[in-house]
Amino acid sequence: MQRYPLLIGGQWRDGLRLCPNRNPSDLGDLVGEYAEAGEEDMREAVAAARAALPRWRASTPQQRSDVLDAAGSEILARRSELGLLLAREEGKTLPEAVAEVSRAGQIFKFFAGEALRQEGDVLASVRPGVEVLVEREPVGVVGLITPWNFPIAIPAWKSAPALAFGNTVVLKPAELVPGSAWALADILKRAGLPDGVFNLVTGPGRVLGPAMLDAGIDALSFTGSVPTGRQLARECAVRGIRVQLEMGGKNPLVVADDADLAQAVECAVNGAFYSTGQRCTASSRLVVCAGVHDHFVEALAARCASLRVGHATSPDTQIGPLASEEQLRKNLDYIAIGQQEGAVLVAGGQVVETRYRGYYLQPALFAEGLSTHRIVREEIFGPVAVIQRADDYPHALALANDTEFGLAAGICTRSLSLASHFRRHAEAGMVMVNLPTAGVDYHVPFGGRKGSSFGPREQGRYAREFYTTVKTAYLAA
Ligand code: NAD
Repeated sequence: MQRYPLLIGGQWRDGLRLCPNRNPSDLGDLVGEYAEAGEEDMREAVAAARAALPRWRASTPQQRSDVLDAAGSEILARRSELGLLLAREEGKTLPEAVAEVSRAGQIFKFFAGEALRQEGDVLASVRPGVEVLVEREPVGVVGLITPWNFPIAIPAWKSAPALAFGNTVVLKPAELVPGSAWALADILKRAGLPDGVFNLVTGPGRVLGPAMLDAGIDALSFTGSVPTGRQLARECAVRGIRVQLEMGGKNPLVVADDADLAQAVECAVNGAFYSTGQRCTASSRLVVCAGVHDHFVEALAARCASLRVGHATSPDTQIGPLASEEQLRKNLDYIAIGQQEGAVLVAGGQVVETRYRGYYLQPALFAEGLSTHRIVREEIFGPVAVIQRADDYPHALALANDTEFGLAAGICTRSLSLASHFRRHAEAGMVMVNLPTAGVDYHVPFGGRKGSSFGPREQGRYAREFYTTVKTAYLAA
């Protein structure tokens, strides 16, 4: 069985012990054994990133661009192989996994370009004989803590801008999916990054997260759950560490009375259930207006019951397994809670037996969800969606916005005026019209409002707000 060490200061090193990385589609399939780091490893990784910072921040935009471009090219060239690794460790279907890898490659290509576009401002001073320059500099040593549901795209969309703008990096990926992060570290090392510029520390967040903050990073970019994110934000505030959080969602898809019903059903199936519903932007709430409600419930229930659940790499699988036993248990618990609360389970929700030992669940659809129900309010993070009945569009908009989250929101309608109204009034960072709430471009900002996000946006040109710090210089002759 292949063993995968830590990357610290340009050296591949053993951790405290090795941890098995198992395939959630088939627990008999061991993806690899990955090093589990201890606190001392994290301290050394942050020290290595600190030592590498002067040289990397002084590197030319061309050098940074070349490294990022080479990494992007290798990721794209190996998309099938890396996609298979990703599908094996996380459980999304092979096409979804290959698409995620492609996206990671494109992100590196995008930021290879951004490395060359580091512009500032030159302003006329209000004082005679004085010039004013506004420049951007790297923030310093950046810690990245990532979740398991996008094992390569999220490490890519954090590390590519960090490196493009001259920062050094310590990546702590989620325990469940060290394989894709390890492959990324290997690619970046061979793409020509100097030793210590990118460090990979795999292992438990509850140990390595606090150790990362104590070791003296300058900034932390975190994606994961709300409780972990809020705790980290408090700890960063006390230490004066710049912090960016992307957290949960409970994203509404409104179906207006004038929607194209077939299109609305496909948006709901894709948004709610693809990637096994394990997307922060998943359409987990379907807010349906009274005129189409009963037809929509009937059509979506039929689609939901017919979705083929199976091994992530089988060609006819539409929905892969949950990522872990804990995820499966949590989803089953919520399905029981929904029924106890009085919502009506109209399709799915049962464990699926296959010839593999894995975490298989038939996507579950509830109707008659109320705003007081926990399955309507709390993020389940799995293939469980709940329909809320709305009297009309104003009621639907109010229900859509009645949430502590604000990541994505969608509407299916044929009316330009409803679409425009929703775009302006949805309390979310991303709005979709006649599209699933999940599924975004790699070159534009990504992020939410309210309880979903904290700090500057990720991705696209907006990423520089977090990964650079502004210096205003006044010059007189
Ligand atoms: P999680 O919070 O349990 O873990 C996320 C990361 O934090 C992991 O690397 C974990 O090891 C680490 N961690 C855990 N405890 C820590 C601690 N005390 N200190 C520091 N780090 C710690 O979340 P998860 O279960 O891996 O991911 C699922 C969550 O991620 C969902 O809520 C989902 O909505 C969210 N998510 C959000 C986005 C987004 O962009 N908004 C994208 C993907 C996932």
